[in-house]
Amino acid sequence: MGRKFFVGGNWKCNGTNEEVKKIVTTLNEAQVPGEHIVEVVVSPPFVFLPLVKSLLRPDFHVAAQNCWVRKGGAFTGEVSAEMLVNLGVPWVILGHSERRQLLNESNEFVGDKVAYALSQGLKVIACVGETLEQREAGSTVAVVAEQTKAIAAKVSNWDNIVLAYEPVWAIGTGKVATPAQAQEVHAELRKWIHSNVSAEVASSVRIIYGGSVNGANCKELAGQPDVDGFLVGGASLKPEFVDIIKSAT
Ligand code: PEP
Repeated sequence: MGRKFFVGGNWKCNGTNEEVKKIVTTLNEAQVPGEHIVEVVVSPPFVFLPLVKSLLRPDFHVAAQNCWVRKGGAFTGEVSAEMLVNLGVPWVILGHSERRQLLNESNEFVGDKVAYALSQGLKVIACVGETLEQREAGSTVAVVAEQTKAIAAKVSNWDNIVLAYEPVWAIGTGKVATPAQAQEVHAELRKWIHSNVSAEVASSVRIIYGGSVNGANCKELAGQPDVDGFLVGGASLKPEFVDIIKSAT
């Protein structure tokens, strides 16, 4: 199958100029497996994207944390996909649960965003995941399938999509999914894609896990057959992000 391990670092709304430079220095000095083994993408806030891009080692890449759903124009406060392309930013994170929950981004809106970003040439880390309430009600698979369906409805080519399974109850809580819980949902997502998109996409699309991944728990999670990498929040701001990258091997 040959799905290359993928590690994304979501810095969220954190950092000063000085702190950002410090994180980049740590990453630049790190000894990690080569680009043929692991793809590393870090996602600073918009305002630091040009700085990080200019300082970051060439084998690591940058992602924006969001972009507008359509062509730019009179949308105060938004950043368009065209602008990211213009700056040479190759990746964007879309559908993060913080945006779904705090900014009421619906499944359909996220699907539209993914389709538009892809149409402009961006690569997309598309996030799905259930709340604790939904998990306890036994609807985890139905929820992530519905979120994935809204993306599949708008997209015909999955080559530039990485799907991030991020249970909301595990994000920033220190409560990580067990390797078995992560594997179960990843396998179900792959099954859904097999039935509803194609066998080819199901075997090639990378499904990464996010939710309180750290240097101590990454290795066991990485050993699961359907876990193709991680999207890391809190720990991506710390030196242990390097250990998470190394869990690729
Ligand atoms: C995230 O925000 O994508 C995330 C996974 O956060 P954390 O690792 O802090 O749980």
